[in-house]
Amino acid sequence: MKRALPWLAVIVGVLALGVGAVFYVAFGRNRPIVDGQVLAPGVETVKDGFVSAFLLDVAPGKVALIDCGNDKQGQALLAALQRRGLPPSSVAAIFLTHGHGDHIGGCGLFPDAQVYALQEELPLLAGKVRVTHALRDGEVTGAGLLRVEAFATPGHTSGSAVYLANGVLFFGDSAGGNKDGTLMPAVRLFSQAPGQNVASLRALAARLLPRAREVRVLAFAHSGPLEGLQPLTRFAAQ
Ligand SMILES: [Zn+2]
Ligand SMILES: [Zn+2]
Repeated sequence: MKRALPWLAVIVGVLALGVGAVFYVAFGRNRPIVDGQVLAPGVETVKDGFVSAFLLDVAPGKVALIDCGNDKQGQALLAALQRRGLPPSSVAAIFLTHGHGDHIGGCGLFPDAQVYALQEELPLLAGKVRVTHALRDGEVTGAGLLRVEAFATPGHTSGSAVYLANGVLFFGDSAGGNKDGTLMPAVRLFSQAPGQNVASLRALAARLLPRAREVRVLAFAHSGPLEGLQPLTRFAAQ
């Protein structure tokens, strides 16, 4: 038994290094996430460890969320609400970019919220989150004064959505921001269909090019933001 212990330590060490290496390869070049960063009027970043969610103003005393983080206790989200003197019941709507666990962790803390996701993502969300509104590609919805437009960008998952609200384009895991200011596609390792993800990003760039002035900021779940639509259109032109 005593002899097994050092080997166990080696195995645990190697596993830890392996996990560390996977995370470095996946996220090492990412722009850092800054908690509390204001991306546009009424749009705030909430850093929940390695992933971010976003808090959007809806009406006085009411907010919406883009995703709800990894933490089931929602410490970062509840703290962000508390800084504004808001209770969990002030979350009127949640817009889910996709159904992976690190984006839906805290959803159960906001039972009063309307929950939106693309129709194609419902199978992945079944039994985990109660979606109240299934969205179609191009659908415009809203809560209070907030207007949210949904774009289907299948690839990372079949029902991955990008949302445009208040001049910010929220990618979830469909893209990321590099430290050098370029946009990168979804991390292959964690994506269902990486080729389809790249095709979806190209299609989105073409769709939004005529409306480029509407897009001020590109926001990503696992990295800091980029400015303007250009990083997306440059990526699409490669
Ligand atoms: Zn994901
Ligand atoms: Zn993620």
